[in-house]
Amino acid sequence: MRVGLTGGIGSGKSVVAKTFAELGAFVIDTDELARDAVAPGSAGLREIAALWPQVVRDGALDRPALAAIVFADGAQRERLNAIVHPEVRRLAAERERGAAPGQTIVQVIPLLFEVGLDAQMDANVVVIAPDSARLERVLARDGVDETHARARMAAQIAPDAARRRADYVIENDADLAALRARTVAVYESLQRRA
Ligand code: ATP
Repeated sequence: MRVGLTGGIGSGKSVVAKTFAELGAFVIDTDELARDAVAPGSAGLREIAALWPQVVRDGALDRPALAAIVFADGAQRERLNAIVHPEVRRLAAERERGAAPGQTIVQVIPLLFEVGLDAQMDANVVVIAPDSARLERVLARDGVDETHARARMAAQIAPDAARRRADYVIENDADLAALRARTVAVYESLQRRA
């Protein structure tokens, strides 16, 4: 059973993924794979350097510089995605082979619906948190200003659209204990489905 897990920036999907892992799922974090895809010496980083030489310094990616370019411009974002996404898919397929027989595989994919990867999953889960809480978390954690934080939020699918496409919606509008309880309930349902 393959499950797609998504949610907007700061929605709480990493917390949900961690709980799924504790409950026995084989979790693949595609954010981590996306970092591997552009690691020093990678083919991905060479392609990025060819397009935006100013964002590679001493053989490593200057992430804030790249983020400033792609979050401000959808066309540039698509060019970056065309480099990174195929490599992330390849790495994810490679990781999946490490799952035990019958183990539920959960892929955490920030742009699950935007990229259409939900169609490749047996079930899709979205974590939804109020915009105000997400904004607060992103501002506290990422050290960006409000304009940048809002641009990142706006670059992702609208929560209502994600809600319609998901098989399971985990509302993250209370405390962490509530989030955990809701996550356990979804996991149990996924196990029944499997
Ligand atoms: P991103 O895509 O930006 O990485 P995310 O969706 O993975 O974000 P998390 O990292 O899971 O979000 O959550 C962001 C922060 O908010 C974490 O520090 C997490 O502990 C905290 N958090 C999430 N949900 C709650 C909650 N209900 N109550 C308190 N803190 C929360």
